[in-house]
Amino acid sequence: MTMSRIVLLGAPGAGKGTQACLLVEGLGVPHISTGDMLRAAVAAQTPVGLRAKAVMESGALVGDDIVIAIARERLRESDCQEGFILDGFPRTDAQAEALDALLSDLGTPLECCLAITADTEEVLGRLLKRAEIEGRADDTEEVIRERMRVYEEQIAPLLDHYRGQGLVVEVNGMGTVEEVAARIEEALG
Ligand code: AMP
Repeated sequence: MTMSRIVLLGAPGAGKGTQACLLVEGLGVPHISTGDMLRAAVAAQTPVGLRAKAVMESGALVGDDIVIAIARERLRESDCQEGFILDGFPRTDAQAEALDALLSDLGTPLECCLAITADTEEVLGRLLKRAEIEGRADDTEEVIRERMRVYEEQIAPLLDHYRGQGLVVEVNGMGTVEEVAARIEEALG
């Protein structure tokens, strides 16, 4: 049987967003992005949104208490019983532990931590080219390298957490969208 309770990790420029959309379509399970939920809360000016707004604008992480609460509420909804693709959550150890506890309570443990890997130099080249075409001044080499460094720093403990549970599946994110999608399909069985 195909795995359908998945945490998706992906380096900047590895095509995580695109692959998340394809996976959701293929598996027929909801795409749960805490970033999207937080942006919606900010737009709706809910109490969570009001607390999260400034933090998000600074690029820092929103507090674990807030993020865990919104993820918990969402995962308890009935459409998650058949599975889910978690995108952007967990990002910290505390979040990973809270997720384990919640899914264990619900009797639906995680089946896979899918990590889409990327070759740093190739991604850098791609992103710089895109920035040039789109005339984006913010995508300088320095900024892109910093985003990658932050990602590596955040992701290492999460990978350790899920490696300890034997859940990590790494898929090479280099190549065309179709090639990567085919690798993911194969990896998920
Ligand atoms: P994303 O769209 O996943 O890149 O998230 C956008 C922003 O939302 C991040 O820069 C954080 O400020 C916040 N955010 C999203 N998910 C989380 C999370 N799991 N933990 C903390 N902050 C988060």
